[in-house]
Amino acid sequence: MKWAVVIFTLLVASAIAEEARRNLNLATECDEARCQLPRCRCSGTDIPGGLNPRDTPQLVLLTFDDGVNTLNIEKYRSLYGRRNRDGCPIGITYFVNHEYTNYKLVNELYNNGFEIALHSITHQTPQSYWAGATYETMMREFGHQRWQMSYFANIPINTIRGMRIPYLQMSGNSSFQVMNTAGLTYDSSWPTSQFVNPGLWPYTLDYASTQDCMMPPCPTASIPGPWVLPMVTWTDMRGFPCSYVDACIFRPDDNDEEGWFRFMMNNFERQYRGNRAPFGFYVHEWLISTNPAISRAFTRFLDLLNSLHDVFMVNGSEAIEWMRNPMTVEEFARKPCRQRIVAPCIPRTCGPLSAEHTTISYWMEVCTECPNVYPWIDNPFGR
Ligand SMILES: [Zn+2]
Repeated sequence: MKWAVVIFTLLVASAIAEEARRNLNLATECDEARCQLPRCRCSGTDIPGGLNPRDTPQLVLLTFDDGVNTLNIEKYRSLYGRRNRDGCPIGITYFVNHEYTNYKLVNELYNNGFEIALHSITHQTPQSYWAGATYETMMREFGHQRWQMSYFANIPINTIRGMRIPYLQMSGNSSFQVMNTAGLTYDSSWPTSQFVNPGLWPYTLDYASTQDCMMPPCPTASIPGPWVLPMVTWTDMRGFPCSYVDACIFRPDDNDEEGWFRFMMNNFERQYRGNRAPFGFYVHEWLISTNPAISRAFTRFLDLLNSLHDVFMVNGSEAIEWMRNPMTVEEFARKPCRQRIVAPCIPRTCGPLSAEHTTISYWMEVCTECPNVYPWIDNPFGR
């Protein structure tokens, strides 16, 4: 255990040294007068655009993490066709890592109007790998994954805008620097348990963040460009914070549909009756698909959200768009629905593919040519 701490500290120290070499400027206290939308926002709980809570659309971010494949697609398909009260299709964001991902199914999610975002190529352990990840490592894991995802799923690269680091383990400044180079818009890896009620709104890193750092190292430099989409944590039944719904420890019994419905509502209402900062339903699919009672509660909960005129389930990048240009509930409901540009897929099943990192071989389904070997870090196209 001691050694783990020492290694962890060394990794963090080397990451800090690395960043120093990159000549980053330490972020200073946010200057509200100079930090203005649409490009800059100080971290805070004030409603953008100076709106009243009741005029502010309650954005809801439902996100699923990890590989997309035949094990979880049925649950995802059950969400197709769902609409917000304004008649527009709902948004869902998928933070997808490469291993065991079926790219034909990623293409299908994209074509159903959902957002595909990045969750790294390797999703590897230990967690200290991410804590100490340098700019180069994050570029190989996320910058290259953006190309990989776009290629194998045949989806436009400019629609891939978000990222979430495995285990929500922050890597200091490096991931945010990579975002600028790689063309990513927002990160949703950073939980807050201090700014829940009222909730923390998304913000930029031009100036120093005031957000609590639950998984250090958090960024310290001034990095104009990327947005932080903070994960406002849920509160479990004994008051402990949880970033993912499935990570809540003191929660209703798995068979208690009514208890789960109320648990979801209580967490939602904290935001909805508060400052209406985006409400996150961050979850892994298995929680819902393996528990019928939770699944029923989830459906009831979504039905209720979709019946409210001032609640909108949106993709992560739509939440950032709203931040840049805040609109009232009425304006938001009047705007045209998101456009769906169809991305074709001619599916191919590839395998068995040998891998460089393990002795097992893989099968994968893609919308392009089959790779020669299983794609991995440093060989994202498997050539
Ligand atoms: Zn994950």
